[in-house]
Amino acid sequence: MEYTVKTTRSDEFIDITGLIRQEVKKSGVKDGIAVVFIPHTTAGVTINENADPDVVYDILSGLRQAFPERNEYRHREGNSHAHIKASMMGSSCTIIIENGELKLGTWQGVYFCEFDGPRTRKVDIKIVKD
Ligand code: ZN
Repeated sequence: MEYTVKTTRSDEFIDITGLIRQEVKKSGVKDGIAVVFIPHTTAGVTINENADPDVVYDILSGLRQAFPERNEYRHREGNSHAHIKASMMGSSCTIIIENGELKLGTWQGVYFCEFDGPRTRKVDIKIVKD
């Protein structure tokens, strides 16, 4: 299933755990895997803490420091920092489904990672039965 995510900032994380849970429910799959794929080159996906919002704030801040917007980049579009950050996070993630539930850790959430927003983005979710 393809979902649309509208981002509102140049860089931000959007919790998409609920979307994935919804897909698992709809599929009726009890045991299997959920695959999340981001078909973009300046956005990605990652799994991290969803309890303290300061964690997401710090990840974004750390990435900004590690990969500044202005640097000796060659890519003419001027968004190399966003391409690098997207590759650091990755373009897909896989989560085990057990007893009809995502087998995430207590503090884990799945985040869509925008690095060149605001834009309208796509998220592909595929539920695979074991
Ligand atoms: Zn580019």
